[in-house]
Amino acid sequence: MDFALSDDQVAYQKDVRAFFEREAPAEVLAELDDSETFPHEIYAKMAAFGMTGATISAEHGGKPIDQVSLCLMAEEIARVGNNLCGAMIPTIMFGTSAIQEFGTEEQRAQILPEVASGRARIAMCLSEPGVGADLGGIESNAVRTGGDWVINGQKFYVTGAAEARYLFVLARTEPGKGARGLSALLVPTDTPGVSMQRIKKSMSRAVPIYQIDFQDVRVPLAAVIGEEGKGHRIIYGLIDGERIILGAKGVGVGQAALDIALAYSLERKQFGQPILDFQAVSQMIGDMAIEIEVARTMTHKAAWLRGEGAPHSHEAAIAKVFGSEVGTKCVARGMRVLAGRSLFSDYGLERLNRESRIYEFGGGTNEVLRELIVRSLRAGVA
Ligand SMILES: Cc1cc2nc3c(=O)[nH]c(=O)nc-3n(C[C@H](O)[C@H](O)[C@H](O)COP(=O)(O)OP(=O)(O)OC[C@H]3O[C@@H](n4cnc5c(N)ncnc54)[C@H](O)[C@@H]3O)c2cc1C
Repeated sequence: MDFALSDDQVAYQKDVRAFFEREAPAEVLAELDDSETFPHEIYAKMAAFGMTGATISAEHGGKPIDQVSLCLMAEEIARVGNNLCGAMIPTIMFGTSAIQEFGTEEQRAQILPEVASGRARIAMCLSEPGVGADLGGIESNAVRTGGDWVINGQKFYVTGAAEARYLFVLARTEPGKGARGLSALLVPTDTPGVSMQRIKKSMSRAVPIYQIDFQDVRVPLAAVIGEEGKGHRIIYGLIDGERIILGAKGVGVGQAALDIALAYSLERKQFGQPILDFQAVSQMIGDMAIEIEVARTMTHKAAWLRGEGAPHSHEAAIAKVFGSEVGTKCVARGMRVLAGRSLFSDYGLERLNRESRIYEFGGGTNEVLRELIVRSLRAGVA
């Protein structure tokens, strides 16, 4: 058993961290968040670094990295803020991964180089006003009409939709079949009949979420990704990877909270001593460090299994639940350490608090994932 990162992984992590320290300082991210401005400039630099091509083959302009390195990258991005995650992760973990793994050669040749270079993003349209955890309830539909698909329906909570060039839409193509009657379609955002409405200020303000209405939206039959009626296979194929990344993002946000709390507790004095010298405070810092380390180890294990092609759904669910909750718990503890100043935006915790909540319910809510974990135990497969 070898727990060590390879030399390449260590070097990659160092480069990514240095990149964010240089290109995405906390003050710049706070300013983008306050002014609700999409991080276009930083995104372009992330693309030039190769991050947007992390799940794209070199043949199609990407810079593919292994599963553990993907975790390292996600941790570093989340450490500086979820706005940058929201800008990129749906594109690389769903959009391009779906096209890379399930798309036609034509789709790969057209879309992947655009995304790798940072010229295009792909927003993910799964949720609907009435559909969250249960994708089998999707009502948006696509009907074959005169050699095209015609899409009607409504999607909700779509991160960065207006800033994307394409929408990855899960729509019903076979009525009455639950999750098995869905197809994945790629819809350019400027297609007639697509209209978007920004949902009011939410957690990551620089990358807003949108409601999207599809009214008689026509796309060619070739817009389907993978097999018609088998959209659920794409989601099942990609969701474990997304869950591992969510666990890694929880680790990143937890690490950010620990860094802030430790620095503050060394500097802040009460009763004539640094507050870190009070046992109650040092216990909180110690607990943060312990949980972050355990969550990090679990996400790396799940990522390693995925990279080896071994079964990993159970481990991905554990990594996601534990990592996301470590993130939010560490932010909460960090806020206790900073007390009054935790609410000031210049210390960063107030933003991390808003941003990290999504990790607990995105990619499958933690309640649903706990059910899945127990199901594996009952079936004797874990
Ligand atoms: C900031 C933000 C960004 C988002 N970005 C996107 C995006 O880009 N694209 C997209 O498609 N969606 C996106 N979402 C939606 C997100 O994926 C959903 O919020 C998530 O799937 C949960 O759905 P819901 O909020 O409707 O909760 P619901 O599904 O209504 O769940 C409500 C509660 O019921 C529980 N519950 C439901 N079913 C079960 C069950 N079987 N067992 C146990 N408990 C259960 C849940 O755990 C939860 O506690 C985003 C949401 C937010 C807030």
